[in-house]
Amino acid sequence: MDDRPDRPYDPAASRVEATARLPMSNCRLCNRSRLVPRHRIGAVTVQSCADCGYVQVAEQPEPEELHELYAPAYFDHGKYSDAFALRREHARRLAMMRRVGVRPGARVLDAGCATGDFIAAAGATYEMWGLDISEYAVARAREANPSAAERIRSGLVEQQDYPAGFFDAVVLWDVLEHLWDPVATCRRLAAALRPGGLLLVSTPNIGAWTARLMGRRWAFMTVPEHLGFFDRRTMTMLMEQRLGLRVVWWRTRGKWANLGFLMYKLRRVFPGAVPQALVDLFRGPGLRRLAVYVPTGDIQYAAARKPEESGTA
Ligand SMILES: [Zn+2]
Repeated sequence: MDDRPDRPYDPAASRVEATARLPMSNCRLCNRSRLVPRHRIGAVTVQSCADCGYVQVAEQPEPEELHELYAPAYFDHGKYSDAFALRREHARRLAMMRRVGVRPGARVLDAGCATGDFIAAAGATYEMWGLDISEYAVARAREANPSAAERIRSGLVEQQDYPAGFFDAVVLWDVLEHLWDPVATCRRLAAALRPGGLLLVSTPNIGAWTARLMGRRWAFMTVPEHLGFFDRRTMTMLMEQRLGLRVVWWRTRGKWANLGFLMYKLRRVFPGAVPQALVDLFRGPGLRRLAVYVPTGDIQYAAARKPEESGTA
């Protein structure tokens, strides 16, 4: 049972105490230096680029901080434990792959595969490969996918020796926002794509009305776990200008939310407008299971194709 939605999010408590760190002076998407502070969350500065609009965390997490962040508990709890939501999400991703033309039998790399749930969901359709920085997650992914075990590796993209043009598709499901240098990582992934191959991503959409409304309290503004935030424009810029791909698909989706949790969140942001009694009512025994589809638009799905001719666009 996933009880996470009932726990208030406290950014300051969610991170290791910061040591003195130098803020980044350049935008990690366009490399220019006109950065404007946007939020201060605990010891973390979230800044936006005045030139391209990319939103990024200023301070690079220390290796030990990342180690702590992506400890086994990260993969055992949270969204990975909600089987129903996970199945629905897998179906959504598989439908997207079909629609953009990833054919059955295609060789697909799930970069940031975590415990291998998507590999399991897609394994009957595609030749799935997996990669994750967590050795613990990779061990679980191999257990869950014995026939693909040899194709699931741990480590960074930089450490892999995938031949150029090896994959028909690379999927980055909820991974981009965790990358310190998304351009560098995606360039390596794009190099491993065959001409005509597809890069597919899902990531929070900071251009969504919910993101604007909630500001630093936006559900995906979880720093320093999330290090970079894209909207449609910066996503297109990443794919087309920085990677030389052509965007062929872009959509946003909302999500199912528990009404009681929704009331609770609303009351936190607008205490005057939502009485506590209403929160209690929707979180009480009768109504606590009520869920509604909220068109939050704050998750984006994008796919981009590598040009057929070699030599980048
Ligand atoms: Zn920029």
